[in-house]
Amino acid sequence: MTNEPAPVAVQFRLFEAQVVRSLRLGPTMRRITFGGEQLKDLASGGRDQSFSLFLPRPGQSAPVVPAEFGERWYADWRAIDPAERAVMRSYTIRAHRPELAEVDVDFALHGSGEADAGAVGGPASGWAARAVPGDRVCLLGPAVADNRSVGFRPPPGTDWVLLAADETALPAVGAILDWLPAGTRARVWIEVPHPQDVQDLPSAGEVEITWLIRDGRQPLPAAIRAAELPEGSPYAWIAGESGLVKAVRRYLVGELGIDRRLVNFSGYWRRGASEEDLRAEAQS
Ligand SMILES: Cc1cc2nc3c(=O)[nH]c(=O)nc-3n(C[C@H](O)[C@H](O)[C@H](O)COP(=O)(O)OP(=O)(O)OC[C@H]3O[C@@H](n4cnc5c(N)ncnc54)[C@H](O)[C@@H]3O)c2cc1C
Repeated sequence: MTNEPAPVAVQFRLFEAQVVRSLRLGPTMRRITFGGEQLKDLASGGRDQSFSLFLPRPGQSAPVVPAEFGERWYADWRAIDPAERAVMRSYTIRAHRPELAEVDVDFALHGSGEADAGAVGGPASGWAARAVPGDRVCLLGPAVADNRSVGFRPPPGTDWVLLAADETALPAVGAILDWLPAGTRARVWIEVPHPQDVQDLPSAGEVEITWLIRDGRQPLPAAIRAAELPEGSPYAWIAGESGLVKAVRRYLVGELGIDRRLVNFSGYWRRGASEEDLRAEAQS
């Protein structure tokens, strides 16, 4: 359905933005709408378009980021005093309205105590729970729509699409379903902490969604195992907690024998590890 992204000289840029409004989507999710003139130039590729969000630390009025965002931006950000530098976390563009210079981001509020007893909080989740209009952030986001932070790329000849996600990848699933060409067949499994986290996800595709409530365990891998999958050539996209992603991928590739190149997978978080821990691990 799509080709590989064309090589581009500059795919990403830093955008300054502020909170415009928020909407509680359920016990777990809070949608925050960011606005600001610079967001007119953001060029989201849609689907699972992700970006890095820079947040101020407690007591700061704006995130502390490198003065320039060039090839060495990551080293430059790391060189700033850890007590001062912005908190950096990965999020998904749920919706982009360039004409209004607005971006919606749906945050899973883990550790907020309401729906996920025992879950650990984090700086981004805590920030999102408290955010009010006017709060300042920076987005390291796409400057061109065809960029490498879009992973969902079903090849020509795909007969049907399989999506498997937890609540952190629910925004990406929603945006993928928004994007699906009319008539595309999709089987979708979404695991959320609470029955009231279920959302209406419109699509032009022929979509069948199975919602699963976590209830202390991860029911998603067993639900996919138990399902009768459609005939024809699939393209699978799996994202969420790494243990969940691994289990589903192992089943699809290892047991069902689906070509690994047709299974796009991404651990969005790992139980017991912060995003800094995961980045440090990836660098070592
Ligand atoms: C490409 C990509 C796109 C993403 N898009 C989204 C998105 O649109 N919306 C979204 O909500 N998240 C999204 N995530 C996941 C998000 O980046 C992580 O959940 C991140 O760890 C949250 O940062 P934090 O500061 O709240 O917690 P951290 O400081 O990173 O972690 C602190 C503790 O909380 C735990 N933790 C982290 N996330 C969760 C969770 N959801 N539930 C329970 N425990 C958790 C960690 O294991 C750790 O023990 C995305 C991740 C990636 C890689």
